[in-house]
Amino acid sequence: MSLQPQDAQLDAKKRTRFNKLQKKLRRETGRAIADFNMIGEGDKVMVCLSGGKDSYTMLEILRNLQHSAPVNFELVAVNLDQKQPGFPEHVLPEYLEREGVAYHILEKDTYSIVKEKVPEGKTTCGLCSRLRRGSLYGFAEEIGATKIALGHHRDDIIETLFLNMFYGGKMKAMPPKLRSDDNRNIVIRPLAYCREKDIIEFSAFKDFPIIPCNLCGSQENLQRQVIKDMLNRWDREQPGRIENIFAAIQNIAPSQLADTRLFDFETLEEGQQRGGDQAHRLDVINLFG
Ligand code: SF4
Repeated sequence: MSLQPQDAQLDAKKRTRFNKLQKKLRRETGRAIADFNMIGEGDKVMVCLSGGKDSYTMLEILRNLQHSAPVNFELVAVNLDQKQPGFPEHVLPEYLEREGVAYHILEKDTYSIVKEKVPEGKTTCGLCSRLRRGSLYGFAEEIGATKIALGHHRDDIIETLFLNMFYGGKMKAMPPKLRSDDNRNIVIRPLAYCREKDIIEFSAFKDFPIIPCNLCGSQENLQRQVIKDMLNRWDREQPGRIENIFAAIQNIAPSQLADTRLFDFETLEEGQQRGGDQAHRLDVINLFG
């Protein structure tokens, strides 16, 4: 992989670190794409670019993978200009043109709608994200995109799991691939296996022209911040715990939980379960059989 001009100044040690990090992010992204069958032959992938470190990294890694992937796919970057005061409109077009990436800038004044609808002092992120999603999903259809790629990473997924458990009474996270609520689009999260700290480091190496995400004046979601702090503390004090939590998301045993919609406890005596966890039943057989 050739280095960008700004990378030329990196000393040898930094360059080695950069190469290692880039390889790791490529490997993890490639694995997530394969595990969830995210991108297939002929797909047109709409890469949602907010101007934050995650979406820049996603675009960069997908462009890297495009050269070596066993399938041919197209990438189109799309930014939604939500008309937040002070949004530096020139930053993304300049970057994308310099990099030779096909792109669209979609303009929708969701900022005014949010300001009008949400009472002063209330958090605006819920409505803002819904409006953003709606605009982007509609636009994907317009340009014939077959996949919509979002830049959420592994830490976002784990944070969402705890947010839902602590504040929503649900055990659910954020899937690496899903069909949108309106049924019209397939949404993918190629960075699902990547750690945020690697993305932060990669983004600093690449010196992406980051657009701050607090232009709207909204406070960062307080509950998410509490979870983030908790997970960061665990990561410092209990190495391996975050990895185990993510592994757990991929290794569910419905018969060991208590959701009657997922496992048929009712007819257990009859030995005819409607659903269940084959893997766990095999474990039980191995232990007792
Ligand atoms: S921080 Fe601002 S731009 Fe981001 S989702 Fe919340 S309201 Fe929208």
